[in-house]
Amino acid sequence: MTELDLRKAICEVGRRLYAKNLVAATDGNISVRLGPGRFLCTPSGVSKGFMAVNDLIVADAKGHKLSGDGKVTSEFTTHLAAYEERPDMNAVVHAHPPKALGFTIAGVSLSDCVLPEVIYTIGGIPTADYATPATPEGAVAIRELIRKCDALMMDRHGALTVGVNAFDALFKMEKIEHAAESLLTARLLGNVRRLEGPEIEKLYKVREAYGVSGRAYPCVSEACCAAASAQPCDGELDKIVDETLRVLGKA
Ligand SMILES: [Zn+2]
Repeated sequence: MTELDLRKAICEVGRRLYAKNLVAATDGNISVRLGPGRFLCTPSGVSKGFMAVNDLIVADAKGHKLSGDGKVTSEFTTHLAAYEERPDMNAVVHAHPPKALGFTIAGVSLSDCVLPEVIYTIGGIPTADYATPATPEGAVAIRELIRKCDALMMDRHGALTVGVNAFDALFKMEKIEHAAESLLTARLLGNVRRLEGPEIEKLYKVREAYGVSGRAYPCVSEACCAAASAQPCDGELDKIVDETLRVLGKA
């Protein structure tokens, strides 16, 4: 893929984020790895729905601009933390999916074992601690979690996904919002039916059989799902996650 292809991919991903209401106004940012210590990223203050290939910026591994007219996005330090932790990934998308964001505002976890296709693709969707947007706090908040998953929520701010390319990261972002929409509907209807242990194990096998790339964060079954907590069972959850990752050989 040429650099021009990657620029076109970022612009198309931006258009789709905007068209699908996953970002508003000039929110969100997208980046891809160009090579060792070189990244292509979206400029700050520009709507991701209307970008041209020449609007994009090349930055180094410290977040300094190497070429391009605009300013490097203020969230780029968060992207860099994701690239540092995930050498297997080449793209990062950050957006503000409104329904998924609503779950973090309410303090409700998106990590329930509910949707089969979400479980075997991105897994449970954990929530990183609150960090002030557009500051280096974001990098600190996501660093631990992004090692274990490809898709996470940023408390009361938005969501971040990593992918083998920009579209892979976009599709994971779409899945987050889609999962939130389905869960919200179930909650409005009054009943969330979670999948149980044997069903979840079968899904992990499906994931293996299809060779799904990336890392899926273990979802949280009913046994450990306090009704409206973003951190179900607190310390217990960490133990479950680490044990599940060990069993899956991903730790
Ligand atoms: Zn943001």
